[in-house]
Amino acid sequence: MICPHSTKASTIRSLRYQRKLKASGLCTQCRTPREKYAWLCNVCHEKSTYRIRRCNSNAKTNVIAAYGGACVCCGETERDFLTIDHALGNGAQERRLLNNGTGARFYQSLRRRGYPKEYYRLLCMNCNFAIGHFGACPHNRLNSTVKELQLEKK
Ligand SMILES: [Zn+2]
Ligand SMILES: [Zn+2]
Ligand SMILES: [Zn+2]
Repeated sequence: MICPHSTKASTIRSLRYQRKLKASGLCTQCRTPREKYAWLCNVCHEKSTYRIRRCNSNAKTNVIAAYGGACVCCGETERDFLTIDHALGNGAQERRLLNNGTGARFYQSLRRRGYPKEYYRLLCMNCNFAIGHFGACPHNRLNSTVKELQLEKK
């Protein structure tokens, strides 16, 4: 597996060559003998998963920063809670149309398009779920209740 963000030509070996190595029971990266049915030896597998994870994690950090770094509803800033919401509510449809995929591929497509703000916003899992499920986030209800209470007090 090659990280989708990697552009280094040296990491992209021809598929034919990789198949040849695989058939002779060698790791397609370092050419040491490895387990049957696997493309990479354990060491290379671990390295490549780590690289992909780090790369995806960087991509997510960039996306979050580009969209303001906090949930637009409640202000949550914990990156593991944050997710990109399709402001038009047609995520699945859009994924089919643009074949954007999810996760890393989706983040890449956002970067390619210069992080368009009109269709996407940053939401935490809670707010995202609530909006998808109830049509509005309870935070909005709370906020308006607070406002009403403040008005009553006056
Ligand atoms: Zn290897
Ligand atoms: Zn939130
Ligand atoms: Zn909310």
